[in-house]
Amino acid sequence: MAIRTSNVYRSVSRTCCFHNGILTMKFVDAHNRSSCDAYRCEEIPSNVGRSFRVTKIIEASKAIADGKTYTVDMDGQGWSACGCESNIRRNTCRHVEALRALLNSQKIPGGIPGANEDGNSQ
Ligand SMILES: [Zn+2]
Repeated sequence: MAIRTSNVYRSVSRTCCFHNGILTMKFVDAHNRSSCDAYRCEEIPSNVGRSFRVTKIIEASKAIADGKTYTVDMDGQGWSACGCESNIRRNTCRHVEALRALLNSQKIPGGIPGANEDGNSQ
């Protein structure tokens, strides 16, 4: 069971991992309280590079996850898209950041087609 906290967006550290199709994001705030969100993550056919469908299954700030599903697309040149509110408002989001980090570090194998050899696509 995830720890319930407020202000998960003010976290001072964020880590993510990917295991058995589950994407987990851990947040630690300035008071050293940690929380965790988890998403079911499946790769879907992409015409831009890599695309994933992520469905929220555990949400730290709520007793029951909202179950929202987002499609995350990214190419190897730093372009990305996600259907979540944060991405629509700020043009980036935790989903894109987590998946890009996991791809660049080969935690999700295969990288992103078109990315620089050093994996630095920012
Ligand atoms: Zn997103």
